Amino acid sequence: MNGSLSPPSSPMIDPFGRTITYLRVSVTDRCDLRCFYCMSEDMTFLPKADLLTLEELDRLCSAFIAKGVKKLRLTGGEPLVRRNVMSLVRSLSRHLASGALGELTLTTNGTQLSRHAAELADCGVRRINVSLDTLDPQKFRDITRWGELDKVLEGIEAARAAGLAVKINAVALKGLNEDELPSLMRWAHGKGMALTLIEVMPMGEVGTGRLDQYVPLSLIRARLAQQFTLTDLEETTGGPARYASVGETGGKLGFITPMTHNFCESCNRVRITCTGTLHTCLGHEDASDLRKPLRASADDALLSAAIDRAIGLKPKGHDFIIDRRHNRPSVSRHMSVTGG
Ligand code: SAM
Ligand code: SF4
Repeated sequence: MNGSLSPPSSPMIDPFGRTITYLRVSVTDRCDLRCFYCMSEDMTFLPKADLLTLEELDRLCSAFIAKGVKKLRLTGGEPLVRRNVMSLVRSLSRHLASGALGELTLTTNGTQLSRHAAELADCGVRRINVSLDTLDPQKFRDITRWGELDKVLEGIEAARAAGLAVKINAVALKGLNEDELPSLMRWAHGKGMALTLIEVMPMGEVGTGRLDQYVPLSLIRARLAQQFTLTDLEETTGGPARYASVGETGGKLGFITPMTHNFCESCNRVRITCTGTLHTCLGHEDASDLRKPLRASADDALLSAAIDRAIGLKPKGHDFIIDRRHNRPSVSRHMSVTGG
């Protein structure tokens, strides 16, 4: 996987003047867990033949890097269950070495991290996000349908031992982990890890109504503010998270609030799926096929033109709604298709 970069092309600027510098790539739709808010228990996965090969994913990512992407996140499904995924990470790391790419990172459920942490660090990955909603082994099994908490905790320790900065992502779940969030935060901050809380988004049919899962982060924040001193931080990553520092722990707490706070005006990101579909907005059904132009020729001209066309259609923003009239998915694809 050492295809050379296509010649530098013009930056990707959408119709609303936003420059696209961040690409999220779902390398597989499969996962070794079945978090109840993300997937139904009997998910049907894509036929393997539909997936881009690792070489094709590398070429696609490289085309985006040539068009100005500076940050690349691998996600899924669970990225670390894709066979040979480390060869993709290794290959993409050449763009870190050349300086074309500023950051290569991934979002993982942590179950396979102990095996891969050292090699990730060796490939130049500096920070990763690990999704973890609870520190209670039984609740963890309930949420993930069969996962073992210990494996994830071991994975987190392996990542820290390898020198990776770990950020914990937790989805706030009504009646499930909402009471535990203060202790989850103390635990994360005690290990020098930031914690970001996420609101449940209405994506894909998961076999249970979203009203049963959704708790607004405004409520969670108000509760935390009774126990902790939260001071808003100015910093943003151009993304949906807003951060606060926590006086009592010295740690950082992020809030991703797609349901209660619209963050689209500064959106700098697009997503590609493991079949080469480009989604320019997480909350829209918009989709552009990049697999066809990718496979149509060995040169990147067709691909680059298809990317430009898709960026030209990036919507202004999303409009997720969960209420009694809208207790169904706003977007039919599951989060595991795009990886958040
Ligand atoms: N498997 C990896 C993991 O769990 O980190 C990467 C993919 S997962 C789809 C990415 C993130 O999306 C996770 O933090 C997960 O908790 C979150 N997520 C999944 N479904 C969601 C939903 N319906 N609403 C909000 N967040 C969701
Ligand atoms: Fe798998 Fe991540 Fe979805 Fe959980 S949130 S089912 S770990 S893809």
